[in-house]
Amino acid sequence: MDKRSMLEKASLFHGHTCEGLLIGVSAASYAMELMEIEGPSADEEIVCVAENDSCSVDAIQSILGCSIGKGNLILRMRGKQAFSFFNRNTGKSFRLVLKELTFDDQAQKREFMLSAPGPEIFDVKDVPFAPPPKAKIYRSQKCPVCGEITAEPWLRVGDGKVICADCLQKDDPIQP
Ligand SMILES: [Zn+2]
Ligand SMILES: [Zn+2]
Repeated sequence: MDKRSMLEKASLFHGHTCEGLLIGVSAASYAMELMEIEGPSADEEIVCVAENDSCSVDAIQSILGCSIGKGNLILRMRGKQAFSFFNRNTGKSFRLVLKELTFDDQAQKREFMLSAPGPEIFDVKDVPFAPPPKAKIYRSQKCPVCGEITAEPWLRVGDGKVICADCLQKDDPIQP
């Protein structure tokens, strides 16, 4: 798939075409090239750790099949247009960081993003953190205060009872 077709596919998922989507499409396309893969991740073999939650992430989801639901898209919020990729089949990993680029206008930017080769858009760096573990399925139990079924990692102990974070009603780090 060429980048223009990828942009069309991503636009359908995202709802509009925008600058962020162009960044995400470029990252997805370059990542596929570097990992030597042709299509999206059917299972969880390709993992993306995105350092922002902007429009660009939607392109990664629609093109590479990395998604929140499958657990192979992780947001590591750093406010950067940076995307790390891990291929669990080959062990290969790299981090793409958007270069500082300047353009005269939007049309020039769009054309550049669609036609420039990956190395002109992104710096390729080593990933400075460990690959995320595979998605786990946790056991759950009922919170005795609200009665809602809650997965174990999100349960807390309060007043000697195992209760959910919302019922703990303290300065719990995961609230709101
Ligand atoms: Zn957008
Ligand atoms: Zn509760």
